Amino acid sequence: MGLIVQKYGGTSVKDAERVMNVARRITDAYKAGNNVVVAVSAQGDTTDDLIEKAKEINPNASKREMDMLLSTGEQISISLLAMAIEKIGCPVISLTGWQAGVKTDAKYGAARISTIDTERLQAELDKKNIVIVAGFQGINKYDDITTLGRGGSDTSAVALAAALHADVCEIYTDVDGVYTADPRFVKNAYKLDDISYDEMLELASLGANVLHNRSVEMAKKYGVKLSVRSSLNNNEGTYVKEVEQVEKMLVRGVTRDNDVARIALCGVEDTPGKAFSVFRMLAKHGISVDLIIQSIGNGEKKDISFTVTEEDLQPVLDLLEENKAIVKADEVKWTKDVSKVSIVGAGMVNNSGVAATMFEALYDAHININMIATSEIKISVLVDRKDAEAAVVAIHDKFLLK
Ligand code: ADP
Ligand code: ASP
Ligand code: MG
Repeated sequence: MGLIVQKYGGTSVKDAERVMNVARRITDAYKAGNNVVVAVSAQGDTTDDLIEKAKEINPNASKREMDMLLSTGEQISISLLAMAIEKIGCPVISLTGWQAGVKTDAKYGAARISTIDTERLQAELDKKNIVIVAGFQGINKYDDITTLGRGGSDTSAVALAAALHADVCEIYTDVDGVYTADPRFVKNAYKLDDISYDEMLELASLGANVLHNRSVEMAKKYGVKLSVRSSLNNNEGTYVKEVEQVEKMLVRGVTRDNDVARIALCGVEDTPGKAFSVFRMLAKHGISVDLIIQSIGNGEKKDISFTVTEEDLQPVLDLLEENKAIVKADEVKWTKDVSKVSIVGAGMVNNSGVAATMFEALYDAHININMIATSEIKISVLVDRKDAEAAVVAIHDKFLLK
């Protein structure tokens, strides 16, 4: 007898049959004597469809109104799922984010959960109800609905688990767990039995969208035991926890992130403080810069290139234009046809050969590297978008073939 928080993603509830399947899984856990709280996502492609609908009317709609719209997807799922559970004959109640006490900061479209006021949730659990909560949404200090960013229902689930001191948080999705690479295009990728919070956080932040990166950050912070598993079978999933590496794997996963744009400032003055003035200006406007390279100057001119998310590309170009007099570049070039490909593994900290092996894999596959960044547990390279999947496959073959 314990408290379980479960989360079901969009594909797991995409139609009536899948909703009934999920309802059965939930009621099985409940009938086994557990208290069950469930976070659920919008059905199938609902969120994408809603975004399209908005664009038809106003491509520049305010983020507040976008959140009002997008939050409706999850409201459909919670009510349908509750109806399915009613049909099975178990006591159930659905709650929107605000009814469940999920409070966030004011950043529409990418809000962070600040607290969960558990009074209502606890009252429903005391009444022996199964509680179905709308994922991906909360309410801010202005009593407005906010959403947590794409994939944010995972974070709703972990936040509920942390606030309610659940025994475990189970993330149910359309794959059996966390794989060594995206199984959609890396055919010999395989499931990991467990992975540390730090490695999972890097993977999620570098493009492995099987978990929302903030959910991992939060699970680590509050020590929530996370398991990732399929809603379509009973296979053992992947445990995300504080692990001593059992298998001595240098590299645990390979990922790709297409949400990247590269900007090059060509022919800027080779004087002290140039990079400082450019990046201070970007930071002031809340723009996060990821990879950076600067060419060796010749005393007169140098080039500075950096990457940002696709969403930030236009604002950065606008800022550079407005501040032409400070930047003073001969030319500003940009492209979206790039991807970031990364390897992650806590075991690579003291192993100097890893980067060389990764570059060798790319060389063998005739893939050119545009930029490189390394840290203790990851190495990222920027490649042309058309090469990204082949790069992941080549690197996976090099490090992770079983
Ligand atoms: P959900 O709707 O359940 O939240 P998502 O589509 O957000 O599901 O996440 C699951 C998908 O993540 C999988 O179908 C898979 O293609 C993709 N994915 C990317 N990288 C990985 C990985 N390393 N391991 C498992 N799945 C991955
Ligand atoms: N429905 C939201 C999305 O598609 C949240 C989620 O699925 O986690 O991004
Ligand atoms: Mg997801």
